[in-house]
Amino acid sequence: MSTTLLLDSRIPSVTGATALAVVDGTVAWAGDGSVGRVRFGDADEVLELGGALVTPAFVDAHVHATSAGLLASGLDLTGCPTLAQCLQQLAQHARPGTVLWGHGWDETSWPERRPPTRAEVDRACGGAAVYLSRIDGHSAAVSSALLARATEAIGAPGWAAQGPLTRQAHHHARRAARESITAGQRQSAQRAFLTAAAARGIAVVHECAGPEISGINDLTDLLSADHGVEVVGYWGQAVSTPEQVRELLAATGAHGLAGDLFCDGALGSRTAALRTPYADAPGTRGATYLDAQQIADHVRACTLAGTQAGFHVIGDAATDAVVAGFAAAQAAVGTAALRARRHRLEHLEMVDPDQARQLAVCGVVASVQPAFDAAWGGAEGMYALRLGASRAAGMNPFALLQAAGVVLAFGSDAPVTPVDPWGAVRAAVEHCSPGSEIGVREALAAHTYGGYWAAAVTDSLAGTLFPGAPASYAIWDEAEVGGVDPPACLRTVHRGRVLFERHGALVSRGRSRRTS
Ligand SMILES: [Zn+2]
Repeated sequence: MSTTLLLDSRIPSVTGATALAVVDGTVAWAGDGSVGRVRFGDADEVLELGGALVTPAFVDAHVHATSAGLLASGLDLTGCPTLAQCLQQLAQHARPGTVLWGHGWDETSWPERRPPTRAEVDRACGGAAVYLSRIDGHSAAVSSALLARATEAIGAPGWAAQGPLTRQAHHHARRAARESITAGQRQSAQRAFLTAAAARGIAVVHECAGPEISGINDLTDLLSADHGVEVVGYWGQAVSTPEQVRELLAATGAHGLAGDLFCDGALGSRTAALRTPYADAPGTRGATYLDAQQIADHVRACTLAGTQAGFHVIGDAATDAVVAGFAAAQAAVGTAALRARRHRLEHLEMVDPDQARQLAVCGVVASVQPAFDAAWGGAEGMYALRLGASRAAGMNPFALLQAAGVVLAFGSDAPVTPVDPWGAVRAAVEHCSPGSEIGVREALAAHTYGGYWAAAVTDSLAGTLFPGAPASYAIWDEAEVGGVDPPACLRTVHRGRVLFERHGALVSRGRSRRTS
């Protein structure tokens, strides 16, 4: 038996608790320190935390591990301030004969207010094969040398002779870029990503894989990484029969056929499906990849197979299709069967009160990204540019969803936004649109408990620090939540296993010092 006792800490999720005892990977007790000293004073490890904060470890409910890991060692264009600098960085990184994978440009924040042309990319990269995904991952600027490896992209829907590729043309180009990454590069990118996540207090990530995003090898590598950070894999591929569900789960090792199963694209790339045209491009209402019938078929097949279904849905027209699809599935399989599977929706950025209520009745979970609002909300933000002020003000309505009874799970969509759970909590509490914010407690719950709920984990205590819960927690050096600087993580533990520890930050006076 192995026992750890945390003393002199703040544990906001258990009122009045200043101490926590963990026995063999399970929370055994939480309460007042004086009681803890008596009951667990002979623990193997006793940590006097000097007022440090202890929370359940975070769950990031939407990530792309390989892309996020590659960004750390590759061409990171997030935060690049101008088009000219983007091209300059491209010129510095590109090597003839190799494929350069870059990510993160955002023309809405550039003075030039336009993406790079193919001619500019070609000039800057000197003939190298280059794939540069836009910040939202739904379009990419590519070089002519990359297109030579993805000739199917030429003339496909979303093709542009000079501008970024979107839709199917983008998917072809992405596949060509992906195929240039070796298994070794992929695995080390995944490990780097998981290690960085653990250092930010994250114990579980939900990988949103799919045929057009990452491929089967990428997911099976990640699921077999045995890193310590738990990976819940989702596979985004539409099906219509329970047999197809079972075949795909067996082939991919996925937990469900959900995640980035695209109903539409993203607002930044003008591929999110809208009821009325884009404010800054009156000729388009975005892209639709699945209709209500396909959505209904997928939900019904997954429900009958006993598996989670789910979709990527951003624009209001895509939400309309999803709500209609769930209604049809509900009529086919019944509300109880639907609810029991805990189907999930990614992003769900444009949803009205009626739709939120209907989704709540179907037991649907909303996997949302508060950092999107922090990055793109507000009067001057990208949402307002693409949609106009009034539609933009209704984006990411967390309070509305919560009031309707839709369970929220928070994630980053890394590399679209960085893994930064405290940043997400803060963004949800300080929402750009007044009335859409939620409280600190609810935001913390959405980033912990909500993540387990969203993965349909049946252990109802997972993500809490109540006795009987799996011991998944993080220790932080800040006593106050909501300060300007996010708390620094001192230790991350998942099911009793230490995933991360800041060197020298914790000193034990237990009988023996556990080292891992
Ligand atoms: Zn995603």
